[in-house]
Amino acid sequence: MKKVGIPRGLFYYYYYPLWKTFFTQLGAEVIVSSPTNRLITEQGIQVAVDELCLPMKVYLGHVRELCTKDLDYLFIPRMVSIEAKSYICPKFMGVPDMVRACIPNLPGLIDITVDLSKNDKALQRDLLEVGRLFTRKKRLVNDAYKHASQELYFCKVLAREGYTMDEAIRLWEGESFTTKKDTDLNIGILGHGYSLYDDSISMNLIKRLRNMGCKVHLPESQDRQSVEDEAATLPKRIFWTLGRKMVGSALHMAKRTDIDGIIYLACFGCGPDSLIGEIIERKIKDKAFMLITIDEHTGEAGLVTRLEAFCDMLQRRRFLKGESDISSYGQFSYSYQSSFAGFETRSNTSSSYK
Ligand code: SF4
Repeated sequence: MKKVGIPRGLFYYYYYPLWKTFFTQLGAEVIVSSPTNRLITEQGIQVAVDELCLPMKVYLGHVRELCTKDLDYLFIPRMVSIEAKSYICPKFMGVPDMVRACIPNLPGLIDITVDLSKNDKALQRDLLEVGRLFTRKKRLVNDAYKHASQELYFCKVLAREGYTMDEAIRLWEGESFTTKKDTDLNIGILGHGYSLYDDSISMNLIKRLRNMGCKVHLPESQDRQSVEDEAATLPKRIFWTLGRKMVGSALHMAKRTDIDGIIYLACFGCGPDSLIGEIIERKIKDKAFMLITIDEHTGEAGLVTRLEAFCDMLQRRRFLKGESDISSYGQFSYSYQSSFAGFETRSNTSSSYK
C-alpha cells in the first residue's frame, strides 16, 4: 500500500476530510503529521526565510516531520483559487516550490494546482493524473472524488453548528468529546483557520475563552449569505476568499445584538491581514474589538492577560449599560460611575484593544 503524507497545516483545516477520503478510496494509506508543537515550529523556522508568516513556517516544520516517515508521496497542493473570481493568498501558490527549495530529500510531491477561479476543468484533469499514481480505473478516481466531497460537506455542516474545523475533523474521525456549555459572554472570533484552529499557533485561544465562560462564534458558523452581503457593502470587492469572509463575518457579527465583542487573530508578516484587520477595525464602531497579532515570539502570558482584560471590559460594559459612548476607534472617553462594584470608579477605556 502506498503511503501519502499530509502536513497538518494551512488548508489541512479546511480540506483534510476531502483529501484523506480521496486518497484512501484510491487504496493509499494517509499519514498526517503530529499536532503542532514547539519542535515542529522550530524545525520550520530553521529552514524558512525570515519574511514568512508563522503558519507558513509551521507548515515547513510539518513537512520536515513527514520526511522522516518513509512516505511514497507528500501531498502539497498549489492552492490558487477555491471559488470563481477570488484567490488565495499568493504565498499558497508558491508552497510546493518553497518546500522544494527549503527541504532536501523529499519523497515524490503531489503538487496539483487547485484553481477554480474560472472553472474546474484543470482540476479534474489533475485529479485523474494523481489518480493514475494509484489506479488505472478512471471511474474509481471520479467516484473517490465524489465520495470525498460528501465527507467534506459533512464536516462543513458540523462547523456550521459551531464546532471549530479541527473539532469537526476530530468528530468526523470518530473521536468524541464535549465542549463547555455554560456560557456568559458571546465573542466573535476571526482569523485564518490554520492559525485559529491550530492550538499551538493560536496558543489555545478558543479553549481559553471557553474556559473563561465565553461562547465563541466562528466565521464558519455565520450565515453564508449574510456574510457575502455584508462584504459586498465595501466600495471595492475583496478578491481574497478568506479576507472577504473575515470582513463579511466581522460586519455581520457587529450587527448581531447577541455578540458582545469581536477578536481578530492576525499573523505578523501577513500581507492580507495587514489590510483586512485595518478595514475591520475602521468599520466596526459599536462593538468592542480586539486585534491580536501573533508570531513565533508571542508569549502566552501576554495573550492571557489581554483576553482576561477584554472579557472584564465586556462584563463591565454589560453591567454598566450606559457605556455606549465609548468610541471603538481612536478617542478615549472618560466617565464616572458610582454603582460598579460598590466603588466610585473612573473608567478610561477604548474598546479597540490593539
Ligand atoms: S494569508 Fe497571511 S497568514 Fe495566510 S499564508 Fe498568506 S501571509 Fe500567511
